[in-house]
Amino acid sequence: MNILIIQQLIERLSSLLRSESRHRLAEFGLQPIQFDALCYLVSCNRYSDTPKAVTEFLGLTKGTVSQSIKILESKGLVLKTADKLDKRVTHLSVSEQGKKLVESLIPAELLKLVSEHSSKDDMRATADLLGSLLRQVQDVNGFKSFGQCQTCHHNHTKGDGHYYCGLTKERLSNPDILLICVEHKMQ
Ligand code: SF4
Repeated sequence: MNILIIQQLIERLSSLLRSESRHRLAEFGLQPIQFDALCYLVSCNRYSDTPKAVTEFLGLTKGTVSQSIKILESKGLVLKTADKLDKRVTHLSVSEQGKKLVESLIPAELLKLVSEHSSKDDMRATADLLGSLLRQVQDVNGFKSFGQCQTCHHNHTKGDGHYYCGLTKERLSNPDILLICVEHKMQ
């Protein structure tokens, strides 16, 4: 019974959020799935900005994601660049126009209003609860966590205040550690 209620609550919230953005996305001729890919690319790090990572994050087929990326590119929202070392790998970056579109829709007005009427503690508790549910879904189903460096097993804090990725052997800046990563492994 609880499972049913949880699913109904998540789907209702999701439907309300989708309906808020639908009109704005229609102005750009975008489908929600294409906007989801754009939002992912705004928040992912340099190891995770490939079509393959977008596919894994969204849990969709390669063909669907490839088509979505083509549309984002044709609208000037996403730019493609070949990897410097491996020309077979393509990196995707979000244009200024794409970033402005995401900033205009995220966070949603519906959630901003909730935030204005709630205490910081209540908002934090809600975020913790939703985060915990997401982690459980990912854990038990074997999905990648797509978390930030701060909670990653591979992250090492250097004495000079910088961070270091033990997997890629590269330094991470303060902005880097706020981005989500396809290689993230929960501590
Ligand atoms: S520390 Fe973890 S999350 Fe951060 S870049 Fe390395 S693998 Fe990715």
